[in-house]
Amino acid sequence: MTTHSKHHIKHRSIRIIVGVLLLCNIAFAQDTLKSTNESFPLEELKDYTQTFYYSQGYEERAISIAMFMEDAGTYFQKEIGFTPKTTLYILAPKHWKEFAAKPLREVYGFPHNATSGQLVIAAEDNDFWRSFLPPVDSLHPSIAADVTTAYGKLDGSFSMMPFFDLLALHEMGHSYTSQAGLNMHRYWMGELFVNIMLHTYIAEKQPELLPALETFPNMVIGMGKAEFKFTSLEDFEELYPTLGMGPKNYGWYQCMLHSAAKDIYHSGGEIVLKKLWNALEKHQEEMTDEEFIDMLYKEVHPSVANVYLNWNKT
Ligand SMILES: [Zn+2]
Repeated sequence: MTTHSKHHIKHRSIRIIVGVLLLCNIAFAQDTLKSTNESFPLEELKDYTQTFYYSQGYEERAISIAMFMEDAGTYFQKEIGFTPKTTLYILAPKHWKEFAAKPLREVYGFPHNATSGQLVIAAEDNDFWRSFLPPVDSLHPSIAADVTTAYGKLDGSFSMMPFFDLLALHEMGHSYTSQAGLNMHRYWMGELFVNIMLHTYIAEKQPELLPALETFPNMVIGMGKAEFKFTSLEDFEELYPTLGMGPKNYGWYQCMLHSAAKDIYHSGGEIVLKKLWNALEKHQEEMTDEEFIDMLYKEVHPSVANVYLNWNKT
């Protein structure tokens, strides 16, 4: 049983996760998600393909997120011929601890799969999202200008909500691959694939959202990798199951994979998503690195193989 007392996120936790993009395909085992808070129930949106629950008072925001997800679902059904079954929870702080996966109950705003197919996202702006942005006047002028365009608000403050809201689609992407039974072969491919889904959809159907999607990874990669202990894909494969590289270092990998998805879209276009989906569905067999990369190069697109081949050159 969880308590519902007002809870403030601890600043220590925030510091640990500053600059982090900890979004992985981890379904944390826990009981079926049901509200036990009778005085503050969840509402449900009706008439959508997927199931959407939201905290009372956030109907407008829930509808806007649901429409975004449904439009993306329509696009993916057309492109790859599959629609998973998911439930999305759009939660106020007072519901968060009740529904979030155990390790993330203290981190309001951290989008994730609480159980397989059950995605948890925040209804309102929060300290976790704010922790990602360094003071904008400390950034390189061109990056600062991009950050202002992407995340600036009319009152002069900044919000990372436009970026984090897009990550709901990254999380939903994991439901596509797992429910369709694709063999992702490598952890990096599991994460790259959902970033290709996200980038392709935004670029094709909602290009006005590209600044929100691209600016944060550009900023992180632009800061360089000197501070990170782990930067190879071999390390990523070894450390991914336990997040042994640490959350901040993991965030750097995610930014690299967002950037790679952008490059793939620019090189190969929309069709790469479908070709990669088909190849991962077809190739259920175990493959060595060499066989896997060769297959990606010949059957999908050279740009996908190049993520692996050029990783250490960047
Ligand atoms: Zn992920």
